[in-house]
Amino acid sequence: MLCVECGKREAKYDGLCEECFLRKVKFTSLPQHLDIVMCPHCRSIKFGGRWEKVPIDEAIKRIVEKNIKFEYEHDSYTITCNYDSTEGEFEVEVNVSIKYRDLEVSEHHLVKFELKYESCPRCNRFYGNYFEAILQLRGLRPEEQWEVLEYTHKRIAYHSRKNEELFLTKEVEKKEGWDLYLSDKKEAKKIARELCHKYGASLKESPQIAGRKDGKDIYRVTYAVRLPEYRIGDIIEVEGRYYVVSDIHDKFVSALELSDGKRKNIDSRKHNITRIAKNEELRKATVVYYRDGTVQLLSENNEIIETTTQIEVPNGATVKTLWVEGDVYIIPE
Ligand SMILES: [Zn+2]
Ligand SMILES: [Zn+2]
Repeated sequence: MLCVECGKREAKYDGLCEECFLRKVKFTSLPQHLDIVMCPHCRSIKFGGRWEKVPIDEAIKRIVEKNIKFEYEHDSYTITCNYDSTEGEFEVEVNVSIKYRDLEVSEHHLVKFELKYESCPRCNRFYGNYFEAILQLRGLRPEEQWEVLEYTHKRIAYHSRKNEELFLTKEVEKKEGWDLYLSDKKEAKKIARELCHKYGASLKESPQIAGRKDGKDIYRVTYAVRLPEYRIGDIIEVEGRYYVVSDIHDKFVSALELSDGKRKNIDSRKHNITRIAKNEELRKATVVYYRDGTVQLLSENNEIIETTTQIEVPNGATVKTLWVEGDVYIIPE
């Protein structure tokens, strides 16, 4: 039988010749990013829900073996990992040699590892669940909470590389968001500020006295980081005018006014910003006719609507619209 792919050579492996088989078949896949979580006190490493004291070299290999996926049958394999450092973010070159019948195939993967610190339960008990700050994440939409948590973990990892006193004691999911217990309040504040900056969130700081040590009050601080009501693409109202949000940066919201199409930079400290609609709530319509700012739209319920717009829209295009108090606005892309 000849190879079903090239039709030239003898089919030796599942209908394919050796050359076509090796070109087509990928035996293994591996995520491009993997985390390694270490306790900053006892240096034990977290595997799933279990903590074990193993050398980091062994831990890396075990994490690779746990995450590697075999996409094709094989007889046996060996894995070797090469890296220059195991600090912070580091790259690991993973070589897999696979035996399949009389073939020996080697595949290579480059994985970005990140070393993160989290206090293990044993040390937590030992250090009495030590924390100085609670970082509260609030106002998260369900679909974005993993991304925000991921970003927060990244910042914790970044700061704990410079300051070993910083670690995540525990993390609790609540009805209203997430509470992250951190061992260092100064570092917690930095991370809270970074979150505010990235997501345009507001920060509320509430200190509490947690006890006394050496004649001084010990403070714990709760940093409540609240994400705003709006996201990029949502419609907001500011002083009776409607805008689509194009960017959020710290305290500033960059937005396009829907009636004149002009871009404004709105300071959220000086203006009341109300969300009118989430982007996914906007109704779609098809452009039937457009000339010189006059546009006819066909709504999803097959109504014809005429309106004016500063945005040029081609006939036949699908656009998002905002319906408010008898007016219809076209939302620019
Ligand atoms: Zn072939
Ligand atoms: Zn520990």
